[in-house]
Amino acid sequence: MTELLLLLQSNVKHMDFTKLFEKTTPNSTLLDIARKVQNGERISDDDGAYLFDRADLGYLGTLANYIREKRHGNTTYFNRNFHLEPTNVCLYTCTFCSYSRLIKKRSEGWEYSMEDMLDIIKQYDDKPVTEVHIVGGVLPQYDLKFYTDLFKAIKAHRPELHIKALTPVEYHYIFKKAKVSYQEGMEAIQASGVDSMPGGGAEIFHPEIRDQIAGGKCSGEEWLEIHRIWHKLGQRSNATMLYGHIEKTEHRIDHLSKLRDLQDETGGFQTFIPLKFRSQDNQMSHLGEVSAIEDTKLYAISRIFLDNFDHIKAYWPMIGRNMAQTLLSYGVDDLDGTIDDTTKIYSMAGSEEQNPALSTQELVKLIRGVNRTPIERDTLYNVVTDFEGVVFEDETAYNGYVPLPVSNN
Ligand code: SF4
Repeated sequence: MTELLLLLQSNVKHMDFTKLFEKTTPNSTLLDIARKVQNGERISDDDGAYLFDRADLGYLGTLANYIREKRHGNTTYFNRNFHLEPTNVCLYTCTFCSYSRLIKKRSEGWEYSMEDMLDIIKQYDDKPVTEVHIVGGVLPQYDLKFYTDLFKAIKAHRPELHIKALTPVEYHYIFKKAKVSYQEGMEAIQASGVDSMPGGGAEIFHPEIRDQIAGGKCSGEEWLEIHRIWHKLGQRSNATMLYGHIEKTEHRIDHLSKLRDLQDETGGFQTFIPLKFRSQDNQMSHLGEVSAIEDTKLYAISRIFLDNFDHIKAYWPMIGRNMAQTLLSYGVDDLDGTIDDTTKIYSMAGSEEQNPALSTQELVKLIRGVNRTPIERDTLYNVVTDFEGVVFEDETAYNGYVPLPVSNN
């Protein structure tokens, strides 16, 4: 059975796997779901819940890989980017967060000034990065004016650098503080030079869980509304879900279903990134972490359920590079990114990747290691370089690390 499934996974886009499942899967619901996937039909919320509760990894991998290869063949995307995290001090106290320092302990954290941040941007002047990803804690001094000035200054310095910045958590706070509507706020953000929005801050939308793990910050509905407005301005964004803590199957399905509905309405999401709860040094450490099997099932079900999302991305600093490589056979077609050791969000939560940085050569090797074709993309999935057949002469002198200043101003 396992060998047959592996064979199918490698040739799956050419085959009718329902025939196999008719022989091997004595379960009419799973057969029915497999038929829907084979025929390109949407699965229901109940089907999704059934997959979480009853489907095994071989079955899920076959379906997810079928969809992945139908959409993207062997292509695996990655980008060259770096993160800019203005502060890890935060007004909020999300129970899953290992990264933030409460204001009363702010001396333990960092708070970059405008100048610090522009200095970081300038350190990348001669590096072939295409994107800066800006996200961090929430503090009063980082208000609407601060951020719009920052974005304008980055654009003035390096116009072609794509700014992917802030989540609805920050936007909700800075717009309330500035007494502007979401619409007015997002128009100001667009005008200041932000090119797209990352997917963070989504956590779990359902209030039963959200109120326990992320009380006080924007609600699930508010998160969705800010993305809706951004999409209707003609802009693109990403989406995430934080899984593996106190949520149950119904909360995962509710979350995925709300994303799928908004995507039907706007078409503005580019990629979905499942984010694993990591348990080090936070208020939910006692929960431990879900297994690699559970991670893999979650990625595969996301690929099967979100039929209107183009991409499923693995964020390797969070899940580890070996796991990210494995997930390329379970629905994932995109890896983020070279990163350059510029995020502390997951290393502080106990991720295997304590200094997350991969050179382009390392990332290409990782993708080729599972017989996929590496393609460097920009943030909007335009092809920058097709690495098929590219032979690296030498590892470049630039190894991916740039020292970051830490400021406690
Ligand atoms: S998850 Fe974000 S909003 Fe919540 S405490 Fe951490 S930095 Fe603050």
